[in-house]
Amino acid sequence: MLTNSLIEMDRQHLIHPVSSFQGHAARGVRVLASAKGARVTDAEGRELIDGFAGLWCVNAGYGHESVVEAAAEQMRKLPYATGYFGLGSEAPIKLAAALAERAPGDLNHIYFSLGGSDAVDSTIRFVRYYWHAKGQPGRDQFISVEEGYHGSTSMGAGLTALAGFHEGFGVPYSWQHKISSHYTYRNPLKSDAEIIAASVAELKAKVAAIGPERVAAFYVEPIQGSGGVLVPPKGWIKAMREACRELDILFIADEVITGFGRTGPLFACEEEGIVPDMMTTAKGLTSGYVPMGAVFMSDHVFETIAEGAGAKAVGHGFTYSAHPVSAAVALEVLSLYEGGLLENGRKAGARLMEGLQSLSDHPLVGDVRGRGMLAALELVTDKDKKTRLPASVQPATRLFDRAWDKGLIVRSFAQGIFGYAPPLCCTDDEIDQIVARTKAVLDETLDDADVRAAM
Ligand code: PMP
Repeated sequence: MLTNSLIEMDRQHLIHPVSSFQGHAARGVRVLASAKGARVTDAEGRELIDGFAGLWCVNAGYGHESVVEAAAEQMRKLPYATGYFGLGSEAPIKLAAALAERAPGDLNHIYFSLGGSDAVDSTIRFVRYYWHAKGQPGRDQFISVEEGYHGSTSMGAGLTALAGFHEGFGVPYSWQHKISSHYTYRNPLKSDAEIIAASVAELKAKVAAIGPERVAAFYVEPIQGSGGVLVPPKGWIKAMREACRELDILFIADEVITGFGRTGPLFACEEEGIVPDMMTTAKGLTSGYVPMGAVFMSDHVFETIAEGAGAKAVGHGFTYSAHPVSAAVALEVLSLYEGGLLENGRKAGARLMEGLQSLSDHPLVGDVRGRGMLAALELVTDKDKKTRLPASVQPATRLFDRAWDKGLIVRSFAQGIFGYAPPLCCTDDEIDQIVARTKAVLDETLDDADVRAAM
């Protein structure tokens, strides 16, 4: 009864992110009620394994009392403190220091946002300010990667390279350019070396075409998430970083998904030993318990902006930047990661990859890929031709619902890709269940008339 009235109120009043307004109203909301560890319970009392950690964010898992306590204590003591007027508070200061200490290289300066989109948006403003400060205001062109996702603000959505975020919104702007994705599974080039060389060449050609003195920055995710969990060849990100140095353009790593243990280390950039000029994070920073994002700025960017601005205020800021409650949560979450969760995530990630690999012989599985606790299965009806599922399947609803019915939440991308990003706290049994329930979904899908007809 309660659920029915919630569904109706939701239909009438709540606008859902990235949803079909019509389709959502027809389907109705699924109400989640509680959660513990890697499991969530819906309003009807059904328990599911959350194979996607909410929205790739609840890295620590649900229900950590120590996190709740950290937030409550901070709320009791000081629920808000502005960073304006030279004011501050203990938790964000300690958090900034802790993050700088753990970040790659000289990413020593932290600007806190409310999430990933406004972290990316902040970097766009900082990049522009940096080049102004260097006396090169003409550097106002930005490059990102096809299939990339960099949030949904009016500027960031144009760096994002997914059509659904552009159509009808008037983006991308003319200053936002793209190069091809590595997308190894569908890349006509076969070897890692060829793919890396082609991406470097394309970036250089793009910069030359725009005008080398006009390009400000290159944006990249260490693993492309919302584009379908696309893992670059080993060495790709390092080569792109080096190319940016050679081209004298800023290199911005968007670690909103990959940060905080998702791929194994605290930051994915560590895997190839690269140091970006700026790095964006969010999600795992607070494990989704409260909103927060962070921009990491390297010494040279910080110092250039500082010198350029002189005594003037750098006019960028949010009321809730460096929110003390979010920072208290992030500090506690960080101690959980370092108290065993990163370690568990690495073990669970290896088990997840092994489990998903065991499905690679399934007639519908074209590709298995991932790193750590970030993985995907790409579904096809013809493995040689890599034919996508027929459009009638509508994976985002039919396959999502099918997994749900089997007690599994998985991201079911419209192009027929299952995305996995389970909490790092998953037990062996939970990982095995994620794989077993996925197999059950695939077996059932093989029996669908439209899928059979396409095989
Ligand atoms: N960048 C990347 C790489 C992301 O994956 C996301 C969110 N999925 C964002 C930015 C935007 O973050 P948010 O949704 O917190 O605004």
